[in-house]
Parts: sequence; structure tokens; C-alpha cells
Amino acid sequence: MASRNPADVTLIAVSKTHEAGRIAPLIAAGHRDFGENRVQEAAAKWPALKAAAPDLRLHLIGPLQSNKAADAIALFDVIHSVDRPRIAEALAAEMARQDRRPSCFVQVNTGREAQKAGVDPSEADGFIAACRGQWSLPVVGLMCIPPADEQAAIHFAFLADLARRNGLTQLSMGMSADYETAVRFGATHVRVGSALFGERNAT
Ligand SMILES: *Cc1c(COP(=O)(O)O)cnc(C)c1O
Repeated sequence: MASRNPADVTLIAVSKTHEAGRIAPLIAAGHRDFGENRVQEAAAKWPALKAAAPDLRLHLIGPLQSNKAADAIALFDVIHSVDRPRIAEALAAEMARQDRRPSCFVQVNTGREAQKAGVDPSEADGFIAACRGQWSLPVVGLMCIPPADEQAAIHFAFLADLARRNGLTQLSMGMSADYETAVRFGATHVRVGSALFGERNAT
């Protein structure tokens, strides 16, 4: 496996459930990429933190409801969970209205799990094309969350191949348990929470 240049992999510190007081020290230490999975929680925590470090990048990594699209576009710099026409359309409308264009990842449900967000793999090529064509979204790459009980590597390899086929260069994949595998398979963004902040309390 080819070795990777660390500069090509962005570590997203997933700060969901953690208070601003736990996040501020990382910002002070120079970390700039943070991930949240809920728009409302992020809207409560992040405006003040962002004001202190205007160059930081906030990543939305959780599923998005179309009635939260306006808040999401206002607050986030990268959206990792574009997965259906309704959301793509709502995001496109808000980007035009707010004149803000956060980079987008299309989330793919590589394990075809009923409870998980993401476009079905069989519909991914068409959906990616529609996001770029019909809705003119700034799609930069693909995102996946492999099933907990399967080999993550198979899903990472599949996502990398799907991205290559669609001319997309960025891959948001890998969490605390499997980020090393994800990097071997070409991740450009790893989303790491508990390995950085410790275990989360159940919410
Ligand atoms: C919570 C979360 C993570 C981080 O998970 P850890 O196992 O704590 O590293 C990554 N991606 C998504 C989409 C998440 O919701």
C-alpha cells in the first residue's frame, strides 16, 4: 500500500456532546477542523467558538433535515451528509439565498443498512451527477460509515472506487476504531471523536 503524506489527511475532531470548555483548548493549540452531527447543538456551541478563530472549519457529519438547511448553510463550512434529492435541493436553494457555498460530500450507505443515512450504492452515480448538474452543488467527495459488524476495509475500498469513477478526489471515511484502515484506503478526511475526547456519555 502506498504511503500517505500526512498533509493530505484532515483530522476532523468530532466534538459532538462535548461542551465548549472541552473544545476551546484544542482551538487554542491550533486545531482547526471540527465535526458536529446535530445542527441545533452546533448552533448553540459554535458561533462563539468560531468568533474566536475565524479560520476554523466546521464540518456537519450527521444526517440533515431539509428544515435545517438554512441553519446548516449559515454555520457549517463543509457538509458530509448530502444523501437525497430533497436535501440537495434545499441546500442549493439556501446556498443561492445566503451566497455561501460550503463544500459537499455525498454520503453513501455502503452497507445498505435500513437505519443508516446515505444514498443506496446502486443510485450513487445518478445522484452524484444530479447534485453537480441539476443542483450545481460544490461536490468534492464521498462519505461513508461502514456497518459496525463488517470489515471496514471492504467499504472503504468500495467508496474509493466509486469516487474515482465519478472523478471525485476526497474521501470522508474512518472513525476512532478504523481511521488507520481508512487512511490506507485513501481517506482525505477522518472523523475522530472518542479517541480524542474520550468516551461520550449516552445522549
Ligand atoms: C460520532 C461520529 C464520528 C466519531 O465517532 P468516534 O467513534 O467517536 O470516533 C464519526 N463520524 C460520524 C458520522 C459520527 O456521527
